[in-house]
Amino acid sequence: MNQLVVMKFGGTSMGSAERIKGAALLCEEQYNRRPTCVVVSAMSKVTDLLLDTLRHAEGGDAAGVETNLQTLESRHRETCLELLDGPLAEETLLLLSGILNEFARIARGVLMLGERPPRSVDEAIAVGERLSSTLIAAYLRSRNVDAFAVNARDLIVTDAVFGNAAPLLEPTREKAENLLKPELEAGRLPVVTGFNGATLDGRPTTLGRGGSDFSASILAAVLDAEELWIWTDVDGIMSADPRIVPDARVLDEITYREAAELAYNGAKVLHPRTLAPLMEREIPVWSKNSFRPEIPGTRIVPTTADTPSGARAVTSMNNVALVSLEPASALLSGTKVMARAIEALAATNAEVLALSSSSYRQNFCFLIRQAELPAVVERLEQAFSLELAHGYLHPIDIDLDVGLLAIVGEGMKGQAGLAGRIFTAISREMVNIIAIAQGSSELTIAIVVRKSGVDKAVLAVHRECGLSAPAAL
Ligand code: ASP
Ligand code: MG
Repeated sequence: MNQLVVMKFGGTSMGSAERIKGAALLCEEQYNRRPTCVVVSAMSKVTDLLLDTLRHAEGGDAAGVETNLQTLESRHRETCLELLDGPLAEETLLLLSGILNEFARIARGVLMLGERPPRSVDEAIAVGERLSSTLIAAYLRSRNVDAFAVNARDLIVTDAVFGNAAPLLEPTREKAENLLKPELEAGRLPVVTGFNGATLDGRPTTLGRGGSDFSASILAAVLDAEELWIWTDVDGIMSADPRIVPDARVLDEITYREAAELAYNGAKVLHPRTLAPLMEREIPVWSKNSFRPEIPGTRIVPTTADTPSGARAVTSMNNVALVSLEPASALLSGTKVMARAIEALAATNAEVLALSSSSYRQNFCFLIRQAELPAVVERLEQAFSLELAHGYLHPIDIDLDVGLLAIVGEGMKGQAGLAGRIFTAISREMVNIIAIAQGSSELTIAIVVRKSGVDKAVLAVHRECGLSAPAAL
């Protein structure tokens, strides 16, 4: 759509009445200029609270459920009364309590059943976004902006993988054209819930934790937006986590591929799946800070005119596990072990963060998130039950005392000596390298080290690659 901008506000940008006012102002600014579609996350910590409530319910803790319900109610009620007054406040409070009642009904159902069916969980936890979108839409209306809240359940069509659904773009495009386009053309401002969707036959789903970024990029793609702006609480995408590297700096511009690698390898600025829907139409993305909107932020583009040479950024991840498999008998083909292990990984939907093998002893290891470890180990043990029982395979080795370091940059390709410098910089810190992986695209070098060495290694590599901000004169 001509000139359309899609803007997404994360949980902290929606975290209080004051923050919602700030976000609304940013919406208004664009809305006065061009067609604008807004996507919002739940208020900060609300999704956690909703999930926690369901856990209490499953465990039979009725008192815990009621306490959480009250916390939810009062947080949104108070925010509403700080934002609005008069009949609009009354009307909005009614809408909020209707949504909260739906959640309470599901939570009490879980309490009775003693279990949490995944599709009820998805329906229940999308409530956070429904509440926040209702609040900001009402506040915008109080400022004479013709805003209205939209439940993405009526808009974003997904597959049936509850808790981590993938969008179906064609049916979503059709819905967006019917539901949003006419409103946008009539000068209205839709405020869509991030995070959720529904299957073709209407069963509620969610896109995975942090999925509102993904919702926004799906909508930007199907609406043919000119730009996508993602508002967070940091100044943009940085060359490293500033808590680890004090002189890390904001990157002015990076490519889709670089941003996706950074997100995938632990940078928290963007949901890893965000960029995929935008690639075909090459829609640029801005990562901006709603607390400091005057700063331009980072522009994420399909390709950059002249790729700066070397690395662009370093990220790290700590909640990971290194899983190693090793045949104990030469009778077992290492390649087949690898193939079956990868099949088991695929069956659990786990994401492999790094993978490496050595030839002679056929040892094969891969890195996954700790959260995915129990399911992966269960699958592997099933897949190799015979080999493990008869000692053809050494017991599966799991190392939790590891962290991942990823060095990312399109400009690393073909740079002889760069990897050597990176390894030397890490070894100077007396940090031992456990495993290394680099794909042939040379976009990312992934290095597994002991957990205690991760931050030291990040600092050393950041310095070695010349990524620090130029010293002030
Ligand atoms: N509210 C959801 C979450 O906390 C989605 C999001 O914030 O992007 O995971
Ligand atoms: Mg988020």
